[in-house]
Amino acid sequence: MTPSVRASLRDLGAGGFDLLVIGGGITGAGIAREAALRGLSTALVEARDFGEGTSSRSSRLIHGGLRYLEQGRLHLVREALRERRILLRLAPHLVRPLPFILPVFKGDRVPRWKVSLGLTLYDILAAGGNVRRHRTLGKRDLQEAEPLIRERGLTGGAMYIDAQCDDARLVVAVVRAAAGQGAKVANYMRVTGLIPTVAGIRGAYLRDELSGEVGEVRGRVVVNATGPWTDTIRRLEDPNAVPLLRPTKGVHVVVPRNRIGNRNAVIFTSPVDGRVMFVLPWGAWSYIGTTDTDSPEGPDQVTVDPADVIYLLRSANALFPSARLTDSDVIASWAGLRPLLAADPQAPASAVSREHRIVRGPGGLFTIAGGKLTTWRSMAAQTTDQLVKALGHHRHSRGRAASETEPLPGGETAMLDGFRGPGLELGLGEATVDHLLSHVGAETPAIYKLCRERPDLAEPLHPEHPAVGAEVVFAAEREFAIRAEDVLSRRLHLTTETRDHGEAARAKVERILAETLAARRPDPDHPAGVAPAPE
Ligand SMILES: Cc1cc2nc3c(=O)[nH]c(=O)nc-3n(C[C@H](O)[C@H](O)[C@H](O)COP(=O)(O)OP(=O)(O)OC[C@H]3O[C@@H](n4cnc5c(N)ncnc54)[C@H](O)[C@@H]3O)c2cc1C
Repeated sequence: MTPSVRASLRDLGAGGFDLLVIGGGITGAGIAREAALRGLSTALVEARDFGEGTSSRSSRLIHGGLRYLEQGRLHLVREALRERRILLRLAPHLVRPLPFILPVFKGDRVPRWKVSLGLTLYDILAAGGNVRRHRTLGKRDLQEAEPLIRERGLTGGAMYIDAQCDDARLVVAVVRAAAGQGAKVANYMRVTGLIPTVAGIRGAYLRDELSGEVGEVRGRVVVNATGPWTDTIRRLEDPNAVPLLRPTKGVHVVVPRNRIGNRNAVIFTSPVDGRVMFVLPWGAWSYIGTTDTDSPEGPDQVTVDPADVIYLLRSANALFPSARLTDSDVIASWAGLRPLLAADPQAPASAVSREHRIVRGPGGLFTIAGGKLTTWRSMAAQTTDQLVKALGHHRHSRGRAASETEPLPGGETAMLDGFRGPGLELGLGEATVDHLLSHVGAETPAIYKLCRERPDLAEPLHPEHPAVGAEVVFAAEREFAIRAEDVLSRRLHLTTETRDHGEAARAKVERILAETLAARRPDPDHPAGVAPAPE
């Protein structure tokens, strides 16, 4: 596996591409991978770090969506369950089966028989792609599975399996896969304008957010995949563009798992307002989410309100009464904007997917709006079909199906047990070995190699966390990490998995990152050292 190199302005300006993708969240990354797999010359630019937008702020679920089932939108559920099956195969280290408990209480809007019926349908729609069929639970079985759930009114419930995913790492893996297929990819590369020609939009003006330099990139087709920033980019093409989105804010809080005592993921109805919510396990932590509110904040300012925290804790406390969580239990939180489609009364229902839409602006700019983490691959395939058509050629390297079978980096095998012994022999702790297997999967030997060459890199970065120094080198060499924040937040999650938000590791991360980048990039325009925060 060759190191991943961030494309410079020079690389991007050097030649015209078939396709320019704006936005390096899961949607843009997926399109870049799909297009590159089909043989299109592709450039992907992201204004900040890959995944720094909504795609690192989700509930981290790869799921069919029981809510859609209740609404009768069976085709959406079927599509998402199909994608769940594919992703469990493409990246088994990042996308893992997760057992859910669904408790039912007396007087609940959805009674137990209906839950059972719904989950039977969910199993059927998974069409053999299930990890295991659901199980209906009597009260006692449910209490055995989740002993601390409120007993008052409990009638039983069900257990079913969905999947959980490291969202931020998934984005980086997909970007790496695109680069591995020849796409030029650059984080910290902002689109500041679109290049109009008589034939339509043919590229974009760029600003390198690290050096301040400006330049441009040419693309025969340009796709806007900027999540909650979608309408901002559309207005660069058409200042009067009617907004496609009505984003809503979602907040999660992280608490020590032993403060709640949940053994599984739990899906429940908030007694505060009847909304469906989750308590989700994440190693030693649990995160509770999510809210769903209209927000006056734009995507650059989205923050966690104290009222959001109170709502989430009150809801979790009602389900797990012995927890008595207070805000002093919250070690971290995150907020994101869902790029939801605004209703479009003019469009015929059959032509509009309520999930995502692909539209073309007056200058030919493609925009993909809406969607979810779970369905990124199928959204990418549908978008690329249209891009290929617009380009007027059908140059496929391996055709559409390749994206269903080509593993993501680290996902080459699900048989990771064999990697355990060598790590333990190196003196790494069990927690570190487990952490490596779930972060870099089949690439774990590359981390071992670094630890062997430089034993200081086998040291933990933080007293509360299993990550080791070699992962910082790996993040800089292969995962496009440039700033300490990229490593602390999105490559290693130290900001949400330690009580001091990773501060105890910061100096070490900065030092290793600076050394690695200096060794890789002797370019005076891009001074080594930790990059300054972009404006
Ligand atoms: C609270 C919450 C929970 C969720 N939970 C789930 C879940 O459990 N499962 C699920 O399937 N889905 C979930 N979703 C939905 C899912 O997270 C999003 O649909 C998905 O991440 C959107 O990805 P995206 O790439 O479209 O947008 P983003 O990830 O926001 O990416 C857009 C990118 O465009 C970049 N950009 C913006 N302007 C420019 C510019 N001028 N130049 C270059 N780049 C630019 C941004 O920096 C950003 O990185 C959740 C969403 C939220 C908010």
